[in-house]
Amino acid sequence: MNTRSLRFQLLAWYSSLLLVAFAAVWLLIFVAARQSLVQNLRDLLSRRARQIAHLAGQYSEPAELEREIRQLYAPDSPEAQGRFARVSSPDGTLFVSGPPANGLFNPADIPKPSDNEIRSGFARHKPLQMIFAYATVGDLLVEVGGSTAPIKEDVSRMLLPLLLAAPVLLLLASGGAYLLIGRALQPVVRIARSAEEITLHKTDAALPVVQTGDEIEALALSLNRMIQRIQDAVENNRRFVADASHELKTPLAVMRGELEMLLRNDSLSPAARETLASNLEEVERLSRIVQGLTALSRLDAGEANAESVVFDLSRLAVTTADQMSLLAEDKGVKIRSDAKPVSIAGDPARIKQVIVNLLDNAIKHSPAGGAIDLRVADEGGHALLQISDEGSGIPAEALPKIFERFYRVDKARSRDEGGAGLGLAIAKSICQAHGAEISAESPRRGGAVFKVRFSPARLTPD
Ligand code: ADP
Repeated sequence: MNTRSLRFQLLAWYSSLLLVAFAAVWLLIFVAARQSLVQNLRDLLSRRARQIAHLAGQYSEPAELEREIRQLYAPDSPEAQGRFARVSSPDGTLFVSGPPANGLFNPADIPKPSDNEIRSGFARHKPLQMIFAYATVGDLLVEVGGSTAPIKEDVSRMLLPLLLAAPVLLLLASGGAYLLIGRALQPVVRIARSAEEITLHKTDAALPVVQTGDEIEALALSLNRMIQRIQDAVENNRRFVADASHELKTPLAVMRGELEMLLRNDSLSPAARETLASNLEEVERLSRIVQGLTALSRLDAGEANAESVVFDLSRLAVTTADQMSLLAEDKGVKIRSDAKPVSIAGDPARIKQVIVNLLDNAIKHSPAGGAIDLRVADEGGHALLQISDEGSGIPAEALPKIFERFYRVDKARSRDEGGAGLGLAIAKSICQAHGAEISAESPRRGGAVFKVRFSPARLTPD
């Protein structure tokens, strides 16, 4: 169980508060019940003290007085009831009850009350756990008392079932709360799952909104508005790139044509020819960048696999490698193909673009006399396209960045070779649109290995 989840934290708080509330209620009932029983005992003792005082006023003979007092406690005796009774005059004690049957106190240990206690008619003796009521008649003092210890025991016994039921009630309440919190958070989980699936180039993407009128509906609506704003911004950006590259295309083509025409002029001085040739190279590079940007903005608009067909990846890869072998041979590089037939679904023209970009990079980075290995295989249900070379390889710190737009490891070298850092970004966009995963490795033995894994969902049996 994830202890940091909202569900767990809410449940922990709820259960703790429930436990505290339960303990507080139990304590409140305990104190109130004990208070009420003590008050009852006090009233009873006061009444009894007054009754005995009344008798003491009538009977001066101790034996007679004792008989009358015992009559008051009939059918039991003060001892059987666990009570204390004492009648005394300044000359001595006229009557005192014996040791109680419950053995909770010893009548001989009970001290004489102070004048204040006698005046207030009541006293509480904490160490003995007893309460006393007093009454006077003439110079006679009547003391009656009872232990409060049984009250505590009685109340505890009375509330014991409540205490025993507490864990069961707590468990039931927490179980119910667990289910309810889970249900209440379900829309949040759904929103999180949907948010996970949203990509910025999916212009119609939105989070599910359940019209409950609660905070979660408000959250989903706000998030949808935010997603819409981000999508608008991304779309504006994409359109800007598309428009800009479109606008640049014609002037670049015109410049290129004019430069080529000028270069055909034989009367040019060598210096002017060199400058014009360099300009032509730059214009060609700009044209390639513009082409790359146009391709990326089209891919961002979701045009990657507009034409999805099932085709043999190995045949496409081998054909493309053959077409590029001339370029490789120019550099003295050999392309070795090992391709097993495996079908995938997608846009063959786009997938071809991925293979071209990867092979082009491999050729560019291979040393003269090096070899490039192209492999197509069915690997555990995935169609795998792998292109490895024996070139300089890619530094470990650059590996996570090479698929970013305009990222180049060695800017100067890449520029000389006509690269703008868009080839891999285009390949990644195409792969993403095909549900394929593209990755790069740079093994210790040297060279670079690029792998494209097409997800099994897109695999169709031959
Ligand atoms: P570029 O057009 O500059 O080649 P890419 O997007 O194709 O841009 O590649 C990005 C960077 O990744 C390149 O600048 C290069 O440094 C590095 N890279 C790509 N492929 C290879 C490879 N096969 N071997 C070594 N480095 C590579």
